[in-house]
Amino acid sequence: MISEALNRFERLELVPHATPLQHLLRLSHHVGRDIYVKRDDLTLFALGGNKARKLEYLGCDALAQHADTLITAGAIQSNHVRQTAALAAKMGLACVALLENPIDTQEQNYLHNGNRLLLDLFGTRVEHVDNLEEPDLLLMAKADRLRATGKTPYVIPIGGSNALGTLGYVKAGLEFAEQVTAKGLDSGTLVLASGSGATHAGLALALAHVLPEWRVLGITVSRPADLQRPKVMGLVQRTAELLGVNVPENLDIELWDDYYGPRYGEPNTGTLDAIRLLASSQGLLLDPVYTGKAFAGLLDGVQKGAFEEGKPIVFLHTGGAPALFAYQSLTL
Ligand SMILES: *Cc1c(COP(=O)(O)O)cnc(C)c1O
Repeated sequence: MISEALNRFERLELVPHATPLQHLLRLSHHVGRDIYVKRDDLTLFALGGNKARKLEYLGCDALAQHADTLITAGAIQSNHVRQTAALAAKMGLACVALLENPIDTQEQNYLHNGNRLLLDLFGTRVEHVDNLEEPDLLLMAKADRLRATGKTPYVIPIGGSNALGTLGYVKAGLEFAEQVTAKGLDSGTLVLASGSGATHAGLALALAHVLPEWRVLGITVSRPADLQRPKVMGLVQRTAELLGVNVPENLDIELWDDYYGPRYGEPNTGTLDAIRLLASSQGLLLDPVYTGKAFAGLLDGVQKGAFEEGKPIVFLHTGGAPALFAYQSLTL
């Protein structure tokens, strides 16, 4: 059983309770479909978001290895770096963050506000890099330099997306299965933003095991589907191996890639329309980098009739709203 396999792994308790599964009443009326949201933007840690679930496992491993420094990388407005930096502060560890400017902007809010402002509060040591085309090499080199000065670094990959981090979303998948089963929602579609891939991989693996009637749909936020699929599938396989469970034959990595343009970190008009619609109809805050793009895909899919009639659609809200403050004069 996948839940027993998961229980063998220790984790920190950053997400003490199941996150809420809520019906979006006014939006459902507006679009004529039953739409729910799973609130992983409310993970109760440092303004929330999906990285807390991965960090429960990664942070625990860092402690087991007696690390004194967490190193990670991401965009200047990375939610992952914000949550990792907060965890380092909570555990009394140093944090080094390698940051890139993926949209090549000098806009002051992007450079200093939003998530970036919070890194300073958490006491993070920020180093800017030209790009993160080879993030693992940069992180490894940084770890070597820290070791040479007597430190014990622990490297957390971009987005926290390795097999251990993916366990957080296997666990979330089991939690989701309990919630939809309790509500009598025995089949439907779970829609989410697919970025560094562990959120998608963990949910796809868990649901293929315990909720095979549910469809999992990833909306890419940074690359075309043919490049994203092997990333997600690789994580599925390595995570199944780590757990000692099989990859069910019915597991399908479904991806839509029409909504991420012009590039990672840069919203398009559909993104902004989705953010405005959810804010004005539900008081719910999406973000310009991930959930705004993914929700734009969901809305377009409803329009095109791409979701089975009469079945619920659940949007996984992975967080990111702190970045809204960084994007003010850029686009919003
Ligand atoms: C990181 C992130 C994602 C993507 O999750 P991955 O596991 O990296 O694919 C989605 N939404 C938000 C708000 C994020 O910060």
